[in-house]
Formats: sequence, structure tokens, C-alpha cells
Amino acid sequence: MAKTKEREVYRGRLKGVGLRHTLPRERILAYLDRKNIHPTPEELYQGLKKKGYAIGLSTVYLNLQVLRDAGLLWEFKDQQGNTRYDGFTEKHHHLFCLNCGKIEDILTKDLPEFNAEPIQKAIESRMGWFVEDPRLELRGFCPDCQ
Ligand SMILES: [Zn+2]
Ligand SMILES: [Zn+2]
Repeated sequence: MAKTKEREVYRGRLKGVGLRHTLPRERILAYLDRKNIHPTPEELYQGLKKKGYAIGLSTVYLNLQVLRDAGLLWEFKDQQGNTRYDGFTEKHHHLFCLNCGKIEDILTKDLPEFNAEPIQKAIESRMGWFVEDPRLELRGFCPDCQ
């Protein structure tokens, strides 16, 4: 994607949730909007630095919270209890390896027969919840750890 086009995409996403566009926000969103990327704030900070972006760790922390609160990022805990962030915009579920800690994305579109919708419907009709984001977490052992 051309740089200006990309900027417009992130500007639009930020504007859509009432946030101002800033370079750190754009870079964080762009970094996280990829398959199988679920860094801790420190890993994200290192990753952005490696790309040559001058950004402070406290700026990373602060913006992660802002973007999470706005619903642009998903925050979750891994097996070790570390807080991790996910900004991949394609609908997906997570596979957690209980041995090596690997977290792999399962794209909804790649597994059409694996459908969370019936689970969502059952929870809504039987438990009275409104499920806004039906994500599943599956735990087990990755191919390398079996
Ligand atoms: Zn593993
Ligand atoms: Zn993910």
C-alpha cells in the first residue's frame, strides 16, 4: 500500500472512533495489523525501534491504552500472564500452545466450517448475554511441541 493511502486508512480508523490521528497511533496500528502478531508493550516498543521509529516506551503504553479503550486493539493475557495486544483487523480466533507459548491466528475465512456463530447464538438465547465479539481461544500443543 502506498504511504499516503495507508495514512488515510489509519486516519479514517482513528477518526471513526473519535480519535485524533498521530504518528505513534498510526505506527502502532500498522505494526499490529498483521497475522500472528501479538506483542507485549515492550516487544512492540522494540519492534518499532527496529523499524527506525523514534518512540518512547511510555508513549507506547499510553497509546496502547487509548487504542484499546477505543476498541481498535484487543488486549489479552497469554499463558504466562503477560498482557499482549492484537490489532489484526481480519476476524480471527487464537490457538495457544501450552508448551512454547506460541499464539497462532485462525482466520475465520480460512476455516468456514469452524463457525463461532452458533456458540454466540446459544449464549445469547440461553445466558442472556449480548456477544459483541465472538472470539475463541483454543489451548493445546503446536506441531513443534507434540
Ligand atoms: Zn509449541
Ligand atoms: Zn490474533
